[in-house]
Amino acid sequence: MIHAILGIPEQHGVATPAALEALHVRKIEERQAIGMRVTVSTSRTEIRPYVDLGRWVADCPCGAGIAVEPTWPEARCFGCGTVYTQIAWPDATTRRDIEQTLLARRTARHRNWHWQEGETLADLTAENAARPDLVGPGGPA
Ligand SMILES: [Zn+2]
Repeated sequence: MIHAILGIPEQHGVATPAALEALHVRKIEERQAIGMRVTVSTSRTEIRPYVDLGRWVADCPCGAGIAVEPTWPEARCFGCGTVYTQIAWPDATTRRDIEQTLLARRTARHRNWHWQEGETLADLTAENAARPDLVGPGGPA
């Protein structure tokens, strides 16, 4: 059973921000080598995390999804190469409450928090109460 909403280590298989940077640079160089016009560059654009299928992610303007990690200072788009340093996380209490509410659900398929669709913590809590079939131990991750 999964006990966390998945962040960068689980999504990219790296343990540190330095390891993420090394992986990112290598992947972007591989894309450049086959003629893709991508480059590693830093953006001051703010990205805002949400939870999709049990993973913390944000959207890049290029259309790719970006893995994000609560305690890490940056996130990196493997689609276009952009490095984001402005990540608008919910405050720690709200983030913890969202994670706990979603982790009460049996499967990652139902662990979603889409603030961009107006979804609030109260909505997640109400959904857990209204859908006992979603909540409880033992389901596959
Ligand atoms: Zn991108």
